[in-house]
Amino acid sequence: MEKTVLITGASRGIGAACARRFAEAGDRVVINYHTSRKAAESLVASLTAGGAQALAVCADVADRAQVDAMFDEAERIFGGVDVLVNNAGVAQQKLFTDVTPAEWDALFGVNITGMFHCCQRALAHMIHQKRGCIVNVSSIWGMVGASCEVAYSASKAAVIGLTKALAKEVGPSGIRVNCVAPGVIQTDMLGELAPETLSALAEETPLGVLGSPDDIAGTVCFLASDAAAFLTGQVISPNGGFVI
Ligand code: NAP
Repeated sequence: MEKTVLITGASRGIGAACARRFAEAGDRVVINYHTSRKAAESLVASLTAGGAQALAVCADVADRAQVDAMFDEAERIFGGVDVLVNNAGVAQQKLFTDVTPAEWDALFGVNITGMFHCCQRALAHMIHQKRGCIVNVSSIWGMVGASCEVAYSASKAAVIGLTKALAKEVGPSGIRVNCVAPGVIQTDMLGELAPETLSALAEETPLGVLGSPDDIAGTVCFLASDAAAFLTGQVISPNGGFVI
């Protein structure tokens, strides 16, 4: 059955790959973006040219009023959201001792408070329908921690905690909540890493390569599908064997 799928941070990278996958499967996709309006609009144009139903909506997920307005727009155009993919995220590489309180708050605002806003808003419809699916994007660093990425690792560990607790709370309402914890994936997020660092990361990966956004989109779409009907509260980590 066709679903309405809202993907946060879908203008680029992993979120855009998820939008393409869901659209190919015939779902209606709401592509949230924050600053990359042109990229989001050109993604919508290419999806709709291929016959899909897609809509780009600007919202800073850290801002409750903007999240409310985004869901209002999605519901007006496509009806209630059946699948929420909480993908929007920001990273920071810095010594822990140099992280400012403002930087900490900003990172948590997007990576975890944004998820809180979007889940609360999506659940109103899902609980009413007695069905729905949420996929939260964490990271391997949320599982094992990364040096010089303490704030990022802590926020991504919080995503795992949110996923597990929420899965228990809303399971009786027929709603599944799962988490994808990607390994190192070639997107703009790796922009600041030197080519030697990227080669070293690929060498450390048993499968010998870095992941692609589509590798993660495949797992996200699986978790949102009926094939995953008995999966909830789980963390699936497509990482090429980097963390086993
Ligand atoms: P990316 O290419 O940098 O894309 C980040 C996306 O998040 C963009 O679409 C961006 O939107 C959006 N975003 C950022 N701040 C936002 C905000 N305040 N409100 C709404 N959207 C916002 O990153 P990516 O690699 O695809 O990452 C996607 C997710 O995967 C993130 O949660 C990230 O932590 C996680 N992840 C990535 C990797 C990796 O190696 N790449 C590994 C593990 C986990 P705009 O461009 O429109 O501002």
